[in-house]
Amino acid sequence: MPEQEPFMRAPTPAPKRTVYTDAMQIFERAADLINLPPRVRLELEEPDYEHIFYVTVRLRDRLVPISADAARAFADLPATKLRNPDGLELLADGKYILNGRALLGSDVAIRNGHLRLPNGNVYQLVVGESRRFKSYRVQHNQARGPYKGGIRYHHEVSLDLFKALAAEMTWKTAIAEIPFGGAKGGIAIDPRQYGKEELESITLRFMYKLKNLIGPNIDIPAPDVGTNAEIMALMYRQYSDGERERHHLRGIVTGKDVRIGGSEGRSKATGQGVAYCIEDYYAEKGESVRGKTFTLQGFGNVGSATAEILGSMGARLLAVNDAEGTIYNGDGIDVPALLAHVQDPKNLHRSVVGFPGAHRIEKSALWDVSADMLIPAALGGEITADVAERLKVKLIAEGANGPTTPDADKVLSRRGIDLIPDIIANAGGVTVSYYEWIQNKRMESWTEAEVNQKLEHAMKKNYRLIRDIARNRPRRTEMHDSRAFCIGQPVDTRCAAMVLALKRIAAHYQLEGFSQ
Ligand code: NAD
Repeated sequence: MPEQEPFMRAPTPAPKRTVYTDAMQIFERAADLINLPPRVRLELEEPDYEHIFYVTVRLRDRLVPISADAARAFADLPATKLRNPDGLELLADGKYILNGRALLGSDVAIRNGHLRLPNGNVYQLVVGESRRFKSYRVQHNQARGPYKGGIRYHHEVSLDLFKALAAEMTWKTAIAEIPFGGAKGGIAIDPRQYGKEELESITLRFMYKLKNLIGPNIDIPAPDVGTNAEIMALMYRQYSDGERERHHLRGIVTGKDVRIGGSEGRSKATGQGVAYCIEDYYAEKGESVRGKTFTLQGFGNVGSATAEILGSMGARLLAVNDAEGTIYNGDGIDVPALLAHVQDPKNLHRSVVGFPGAHRIEKSALWDVSADMLIPAALGGEITADVAERLKVKLIAEGANGPTTPDADKVLSRRGIDLIPDIIANAGGVTVSYYEWIQNKRMESWTEAEVNQKLEHAMKKNYRLIRDIARNRPRRTEMHDSRAFCIGQPVDTRCAAMVLALKRIAAHYQLEGFSQ
């Protein structure tokens, strides 16, 4: 037999373990189980495109608080009387942004670049500098439709993280049965350290550079951690400015305000979807959500909406953890009151901490609270194997993306804790994003009841398919038909969800083939 070329025999180096390789373990497992054709597997193992680019902006002047010691040197400095106090914008880190003409027309007393504000504190005036921010857009796969995925503004992001989140979108859009692929992107930035006008400049510049890569029929961004409907409005304006048919470009982003083409029901859609899954989970057992208890991590868009909806179904929230701390009330936390506390403009961190209707506990104590359910709705990787060993809940419904590590998955399965995996549990957001995109294309607007009716049907149908795959129970009911998806053996729920995604994606390659 002729000897093989040396390069053919070189062993493939074991890939370095990253957040991406961790996230892909479940893909590899499901691909093995269904014998995914090798070429389809190669197409899905890495993203179609990985874009890294930079956004530069000129920041505003700032007033930076100085220490009490340093302030002694300015003991006799009179306070500056501000004519236009609205020009000062207080940030979560205690600094003030000097917007526009904040000091114009005021009696300003400055010594050595320091001034005293009417609140009595001395601040150093720091002149705004230009800054560069690393930005990303990963387009993972478009076999089933245009790339689709959120924009994250957060200081702890990386290419590997965006690759993992983009791949998750490919699986999620397939599971939700909507004609999109997967993408994700954003900026390495802590948005709480920047003023409103600075964030506007950063967003406009980000979209200026992104415009080459996306389009309403190519790649459609949406809000994610650190971004919201206001950011989406800026992105839409920047993309469509000066275009002749700008109103036909409204579908360039989803998650917009309803007044400018957003969908009714979108802002609560992810939480609504989590709640529909939980409702169906209990309905199958002949139980209801009423009277159940839950703990929550994250009280942002997803966490607060899930809590509100579960609360309105009669469940009781016992504890919440967010980036600032953790609160607990064994009798149940009043969710509308907590929401009002978080949205109070004086609550700069928009945190649950300081809520009078509960007391503060250590973050780690969240994991020890006995409850029926835990809903992680913050960041990824929070439920580690150690955490999973401690949990005193019977069900985890993943509102966040990737909150449970692969090692924790094994612990949960050994301990018999049920799981509603992220790619189905939080698919409500992208499903209603799809409804928004259709409404934009058709220049229509649907009522919240219409949206929720469609969403409920989509969530419950696809969640039932996943449970049938997990139990190897091929059947046809009025709502769903799982016969083509079951694989002849039972599998865990996370793997079952991936099987559903891969079978739907693979069908495109099998029937349409590959472009050369
Ligand atoms: P958000 O920015 O509105 O809220 C994030 C929440 O997490 C805040 O309460 C914040 O305090 C908390 N948090 C941040 N860091 C934390 C930490 N280290 N420890 C504890 N809490 C922390 O974000 P969101 O839109 O609610 O998204 C939350 C999760 O849901 C993310 O994983 C996101 O990818 C996922 N998700 C969001 C949507 C959506 O429609 N918004 C859809 C699908 C999935």
